[in-house]
Amino acid sequence: MKHIIIGGVAGGATAAARIRRIDEAAEIILLEKGKYISYANCGLPYYIGGVISERERLFLQTPQSFGRRFNVDVRVENEAIAIDTATKRVTIKKADGEEYVETYDKLLLSPGASPISPKIKGIDLEGIFTLRNVADTDAIKNYLEMHDINNAVVVGAGFIGLEMAENLAHTGASVAIVEKLDQVMPPIDFSMAALVHDHLIQKGVNLYLEKSVEEFESKNGQIEVKLSSGETLLADMVILSIGVRPETKLAVNAGIKIGVTNGIWVDDYLQTSAENVYAVGDAIEFPHPVTKKPWLNYLANPANRQGRIVADNMVFGNKIKYEGAIGTSIAKVFDLTVASTGLPAKQLMAMGIPYKSSTTHSGSHAGYYPNATNMTLKLTFDPQTGKMYGAQGVGVDGVDKRIDQIALLIKLGGTIFDLIRLEHAYAPPFSSAKDPIAIAGYVASNIISGKMPVVYWEDIKTADLEKITLLDVRTTEEFSLGSIPGAVNIPLDDLRGRLKEIPTDKPIYVFCQVGLRGYLAQQILLGNGFKEVSNLSGGFKSYKPAVAIIRNTKPENKKINITNSSQPVMEPMFKNIIKLDACGLQCPGPILKLKNKIDDIREGEVLEVTSTDAGFSRDAESWCKMTGNTLISNKVENGKYIVVVQKGAPKSCETVTSCSGKGKTLILFSQELDKALATFVLANGAAATGQKVTIFFTFWGLNVIKKVKKPQVKKDFFGKMFSIMLPSSSLKLKLSKFNMFGAGSKMMRMIMKNKGIDSLESLRQQALDNGVEFIACQMSMDVMGVKREELMDEVTIGGVATYMANADEANVNLFI
Ligand SMILES: Cc1cc2nc3c(=O)[nH]c(=O)nc-3n(C[C@H](O)[C@H](O)[C@H](O)COP(=O)(O)OP(=O)(O)OC[C@H]3O[C@@H](n4cnc5c(N)ncnc54)[C@H](O)[C@@H]3O)c2cc1C
Repeated sequence: MKHIIIGGVAGGATAAARIRRIDEAAEIILLEKGKYISYANCGLPYYIGGVISERERLFLQTPQSFGRRFNVDVRVENEAIAIDTATKRVTIKKADGEEYVETYDKLLLSPGASPISPKIKGIDLEGIFTLRNVADTDAIKNYLEMHDINNAVVVGAGFIGLEMAENLAHTGASVAIVEKLDQVMPPIDFSMAALVHDHLIQKGVNLYLEKSVEEFESKNGQIEVKLSSGETLLADMVILSIGVRPETKLAVNAGIKIGVTNGIWVDDYLQTSAENVYAVGDAIEFPHPVTKKPWLNYLANPANRQGRIVADNMVFGNKIKYEGAIGTSIAKVFDLTVASTGLPAKQLMAMGIPYKSSTTHSGSHAGYYPNATNMTLKLTFDPQTGKMYGAQGVGVDGVDKRIDQIALLIKLGGTIFDLIRLEHAYAPPFSSAKDPIAIAGYVASNIISGKMPVVYWEDIKTADLEKITLLDVRTTEEFSLGSIPGAVNIPLDDLRGRLKEIPTDKPIYVFCQVGLRGYLAQQILLGNGFKEVSNLSGGFKSYKPAVAIIRNTKPENKKINITNSSQPVMEPMFKNIIKLDACGLQCPGPILKLKNKIDDIREGEVLEVTSTDAGFSRDAESWCKMTGNTLISNKVENGKYIVVVQKGAPKSCETVTSCSGKGKTLILFSQELDKALATFVLANGAAATGQKVTIFFTFWGLNVIKKVKKPQVKKDFFGKMFSIMLPSSSLKLKLSKFNMFGAGSKMMRMIMKNKGIDSLESLRQQALDNGVEFIACQMSMDVMGVKREELMDEVTIGGVATYMANADEANVNLFI
């Protein structure tokens, strides 16, 4: 029997080796158009980044060693250019252009996929690459060696794009990612991708989401990347990772059936529509085991598995059916592991399949054993039967084994109840007696049984706060570090004594940090006669990154102290740094530990806190700003967040600012609409020139940065009087002239709208997005009874010292 195999990497090489193992007498010809066979394409990004240092390690076999071991006629640089299925002949072209014909008894197509390279002006410029094979890798590696790559742009934020972003960062480049969707990692849901956004930003990667590239232009030896948003990025190198499509040219020309998703159609035995012709790997489409609909997936495990099945069917006749793949995939993104299997919520929604989801945050192993890290698991399942549809995991350790277990359950038709029944090997360094999978199963079963009605972060984001009560049951310390706008804080342990404060006539959305205290609070409320009480799935820990605004730093302004572990940290040298281990603790544990320790030490002493809670570094930054302690550095190393803080003077109003060099400071003293408008117009103008801008809101100016929906706060008599007399938010500001009992300000807003001028609120948001720092005057807040919770979340609190420090750094100071 004579077998010809087209494509010599994952599917093709596997099939060739298997055919030999089961048929010693067969003639096997392996055709590969490139120079190499059986290499590790999944390792290519890591070779580029230097993690894999020796090029030879990418090659599992050379054409010669493979040929010798398996007695296969390996022909590299031999491209199949035509197939005649009627006469069973393949036309082949050699590298020197010579063409010849081979006949076959059985033919296998494993030609893989080809990268999408859209028709963008300038796409062929030097320095723009795609990555698919060894030749691409060599070209990228050579370019990195020959050029000084300070800024790299990766277009496309799929798995390979993100791996490239990380590996380019390892080479020392500043990396920006441009992605057309609103998230990275398309196979996972937005709320899970948001955790990755947060991590990428902490690692210094700039994210340009919901933006596409319109043009590349060569500029002074660099590539100008022009985005649909009007922004331009300057790059020394660009990697295009926009996606791939099945390589079907040969099959199409041979009249072999192409399926609805544009992959090569195959039957259960991986045979194409042509007799004796089979196909495997990235080039084929196959029904998804859950949806039963054909789909494409570009993964190495299915290609290898299909290669083995198809070899048996080619040798023994069509006996073994392929069961299909559910798309189990994993990627390392800096310190994070991101994995997914089955169907995410967005795909279920798009296909109109009813589902429920649950999000849980657990420790990778027992919290009391060192180095436990957080792991977020999201499950999707049938709302009636609990049949598992999919799972996604983001964390540092142990995500892979959980997703693998769930993948097996999904393939076997398992339910969320099977997650609870799973027996896992447990000792403190590896897991907890209640494994994250079991916890996810318990939570999902509470959702299905109706014991724990849930709302999701999107429901809260779009909720009319007049019509619900949003209840934060975390501690007051956690609440003061930030909450959901409009939330009322009643800590769980005070809830039973404060039930009277909660309205009984509207639904209650309760939340805590990860969902557990929210569940307990929900049970207390339901047990006390409250109706319609829902718990926020995944808690504030899921909500916060999902609604976060992505703020990029200019490459040249990148904080040098937020690094990945391979880069040196520039940090002042302090003797006797006091170390504090807060690993394994969930928020607010680390921040409380920090506070308690700072209380114990002397002014000027330096404390280094290590935590595994991803929110800790941001919380520590805000906490330092609020308390007058100095944040010395803030870095992420191997999934650990290490914050160094120097104790400041008691009750100091110092605010740490990223300000360096000349900038502009504006004092907004007024609460008049036109003056506030002028302030933000000036601030945005200055920020657009790349300067550091600070607005100091004092006295009446505080009314410009009040939230529209404010939580209930306790005030003294004068505070209450001020609240009644002052504008409740920017929407109520008056004009300085011709206000005419409010008609003037309404007219002004209408005219601005008609003329296409942004509203005050949108100018204010632009200022924040442009990195303008908003500081509220502590003393004015005290005098006027304004509480922190009433002000926009982005505002920091400072005093005159803060203003003076910033003014000193600025070359323009305006009082408005
Ligand atoms: C950079 C990178 C990283 C990846 N990382 C991962 C990962 O971490 N995990 C994962 O699961 N998957 C990963 N993948 C995907 C995985 O490598 C593929 O799914 C898998 O290799 C597909 O196997 P295949 O046999 O279908 O195609 P390939 O392995 O791509 O092999 C196809 C071969 O066919 C040859 N060929 C095409 N047409 C012809 C012709 N007419 N004549 C002769 N030869 C031809 C091509 O030159 C190519 O060498 C990665 C892919 C890349 C490129």
